[in-house]
Amino acid sequence: MKLNGNFQNLEQSYLFVTIAKKVNEYTAAHPENNLIRMGIGDVTLPLAPVVIQAMHKATDEMAKKETFRGYSPDSSGYPFLREAIAGYYQSLGVSVEPGEVFVGDGAKSDVGNIVDIFDNANTILVPDPVYPVYVDTNVMAGRKIAYADANMENGFLPMPEAGQSADIVYICSPNNPTGAVYNRDQLQAWVDYALEREAVILFDAAYESFVSPGLPRSIFEIPGAERCAIEFCSLSKTAGFTGMRCGYTVIKKELAFEGVSVAKLWERRQGSKFNGVNYVTQRAAEAVFSPEGIRQTQEAVAYYKGNAQVMVQAMRDMGLWFTGGENSPYVWFQCPEGKSGWEYFDYLLNEKEIVGTPGEGFGKNGGGCMRLSAFGDTEKTKEAMERIKRG
Ligand SMILES: *Cc1c(COP(=O)(O)O)cnc(C)c1O
Repeated sequence: MKLNGNFQNLEQSYLFVTIAKKVNEYTAAHPENNLIRMGIGDVTLPLAPVVIQAMHKATDEMAKKETFRGYSPDSSGYPFLREAIAGYYQSLGVSVEPGEVFVGDGAKSDVGNIVDIFDNANTILVPDPVYPVYVDTNVMAGRKIAYADANMENGFLPMPEAGQSADIVYICSPNNPTGAVYNRDQLQAWVDYALEREAVILFDAAYESFVSPGLPRSIFEIPGAERCAIEFCSLSKTAGFTGMRCGYTVIKKELAFEGVSVAKLWERRQGSKFNGVNYVTQRAAEAVFSPEGIRQTQEAVAYYKGNAQVMVQAMRDMGLWFTGGENSPYVWFQCPEGKSGWEYFDYLLNEKEIVGTPGEGFGKNGGGCMRLSAFGDTEKTKEAMERIKRG
């Protein structure tokens, strides 16, 4: 018996462990601290009332023999939810059929599991800095990874480069950790690149609900994307579903390689390894896409975006270089006085009682940067920015 040796090649994830250790040390030494946590990538507001109502109703159905549901007929989701998601795409001006929507238990699982359907000889292109899931899931499969440098020169939005060959391209827009968002022309350049090379784009749209009008929310707003892209989305950040678990993957029927439908392969993969999202959660997700659900969930998004605006204003006041905040719950900035992310982390923790996330944790190009999250409380966000500005 041999274990999968590729696991030995995974980078140890010291980031959140180290942060937790430093924070614990600080709170132990300062029991009466007034710490403001801006490192979190998790939502903090409760679920919308329409979502709670839908869950109560679905739970009652599960309590009666006549309306009880066991296995869902299709691991890719109940028709009512697939139709609701397709309807949401229609509202963005994107034509998606219910059969092109695959419901899953979150974007992390889908983005991680999609690698099953691709050959291990493929070359992978991921941005640096990056959401670690893209890298780790390919390392586990033993694949070669190339990095697209995101930095201040390109506004943390790398573009295709001549001579750069990749079969599988990961794009996350709006980005975690940088908050940077691609415009239409930039995404068109990536779509053109992928079509020319017969590559596939794996587009992570987890933060699409933070995008302001005028910028693309879906890769399928870009002509040609239906023939080269897979989109991953989630209700985690859109509707506070991080603990509920529901997301969706969209694969257009036009997407095929070597004459094989990618949607069919994904359906087969899911049918073999996944038995669907629970009924109550699917009803909750359906409620998110109702007119009232969209209104209520957008209220929470607007609250977080308000916090991000407070941070953006503070960055401007201090004259710091930053991205994000406008179409994203993250602000990503260059640490003052040439400090490294970890040096600035220590300074914020010990001098200002603020917890951020040092950019080094997301890749080498994150060096000297810091990520702050807008998922907290507005009063605390204002207080934190005042503390930082006081210098
Ligand atoms: C939060 C997040 C997701 C969503 O993950 P879920 O598994 O749906 O909770 C996906 N991608 C990125 C980059 C994220 O930050």
